[in-house]
Amino acid sequence: MLAESALRPDREGGQARHRLGVLGWPVAHSRSPAIHNAALRELGMSDWRYQLLPVPPELLAPTAGALGGSGFVGANVTIPHKQAALALADEASVAARAIGAANTLTFAQDGSIAAENTDAPGLIEAIQTTLTGKRALVLGAGGSARAVVWALREAGVAELSIWNRTAERAQALAKDLEARPAGSPHTADVLVNCTSVGLQPTPDALQALGLDDLQLAEFELVVDLVYRGDAETELLYAARRAGVRTVPGLDVLVAQGALSFELWTGRKAPRKVMRDAAIWGP
Ligand code: NAP
Repeated sequence: MLAESALRPDREGGQARHRLGVLGWPVAHSRSPAIHNAALRELGMSDWRYQLLPVPPELLAPTAGALGGSGFVGANVTIPHKQAALALADEASVAARAIGAANTLTFAQDGSIAAENTDAPGLIEAIQTTLTGKRALVLGAGGSARAVVWALREAGVAELSIWNRTAERAQALAKDLEARPAGSPHTADVLVNCTSVGLQPTPDALQALGLDDLQLAEFELVVDLVYRGDAETELLYAARRAGVRTVPGLDVLVAQGALSFELWTGRKAPRKVMRDAAIWGP
């Protein structure tokens, strides 16, 4: 849990720091400190620091309320706090409201909290190609699928289907965001895996995703939100072998982090440095 000392005004050599962090529970595994501290070092921002903020759900609201007064400029938000972070904010972007979740909080001098969602634009940045008029299939119906479906719709995808292991969740999400629930996975131009399949090495990943009977070569682009260090997931390996362009989850992670960084600091985020730090650590 977050030690009280973690919120005390942070001074080193008399110089107040600008503080950033990531709120989660648990959060020890997060790569965000490595990613952001590498960016701060690269830009010579020595009076800034990014830290882990392990906070259980019942303490999220009071902790977030105290961060601004403790020198924090902003915080990322990860599992399980993304929805609660939106609820506690004083203002929220259109994206955060539509998605129903925030991954970025900014603390103003007057104590107010602004919520943003950079997961959605991060996905579009990482894809690096126009999606207008494309057909997309999203696998999964959890928190990340919600941001992905909204992002794809905003990016001009013409036909959007959602398949999920638990069909009712796909139906509910599709209804909410004007997409189509799919009874089984089907080919499209773009495939985005938003399930947690592949988080652990999984030889039968394609089977678990219902993709074993499909020709992956018929997709133009396969995105896997799941990332496993510098190892390729089974889905991305199979797609690449089939000659399909792939976007790894690490690229999406770095893009959303870069967008949060730019929001807080007003500086262009050094994405290459951030990506290297995401793979290799600080
Ligand atoms: P979540 O809300 O817990 O949703 C998990 C999803 O995975 C559900 O749709 C669930 O289906 C499905 N699933 C789990 N095990 C499955 C299995 N064995 N077979 C088929 N489907 C299965 O999680 P989330 O927040 O959406 O995150 C999903 C993944 O994306 C995680 O691995 C996370 O690390 C990754 N992610 C990456 C980024 C990035 O920046 N790259 C951002 C966010 C998330 P049911 O509904 O049937 O349970």
